Amino acid sequence: MRFDRLTGEWVAVAAHRQSRTYLPPADQCPLCPSVGGRESEIPVEDFHVVAFENRFPSLGPELGELPSPQGATGRELWGSASSAYGRCEVVVYTPEHEGSFASLPFERARTVVEAWAQRTEALSAMKGIRHVFPFENRGEQIGVTLHHPHGQIYAYPYAAPTAARLAERSRAYLDATGRPLMGELLRDETDAGDRMVLAGDHFSAYVPYAARWPLEVHLVPHRQAPDLAA
Ligand SMILES: [Zn+2]
Repeated sequence: MRFDRLTGEWVAVAAHRQSRTYLPPADQCPLCPSVGGRESEIPVEDFHVVAFENRFPSLGPELGELPSPQGATGRELWGSASSAYGRCEVVVYTPEHEGSFASLPFERARTVVEAWAQRTEALSAMKGIRHVFPFENRGEQIGVTLHHPHGQIYAYPYAAPTAARLAERSRAYLDATGRPLMGELLRDETDAGDRMVLAGDHFSAYVPYAARWPLEVHLVPHRQAPDLAA
């Protein structure tokens, strides 16, 4: 982990390519169950959902506190570096090689959500962890190297910049008004209506007013909660 003096951000730098598995044929998929004498990364013949530490992690498995980038003179030092503390986990959604999160039956999708919540709670409790981020990159265009339906969880030793900014804005709004910013946005989008994609019983989804991507949807719980575990 290197400290960038220009942006004030920590950057995880991969020193080598780690010989990671790259687009293997289906019969050599490391995320399929171990059947017929073939050992995959998952040593059981069947499962609903599996979470395990990434064999090729950007962060961890060492845990700890990042050092202050301030040197003895109070100046930020070029050359401030640290072990890449944290955790990287893989969440496999299904034993089926084909499909996606969206093609899971409701009960199985729920099991994956339970796994995200449980791992968020467990990882958040680990030494030095400041931000737990479950995510999925999907498609070769964004660099996915395994097609089996799966996502990842990164547990960072700092709050990633966008999350830190959201937390800062939400705190300031709460202090000023006594109300949660995300709940206010959801109320305003629901009232306006023209960007609503889904109005559900417990969650609703909308295209944000200041969207940054050609396709962007925010899925927001009606009950405001700090994280997936809550
Ligand atoms: Zn597979």
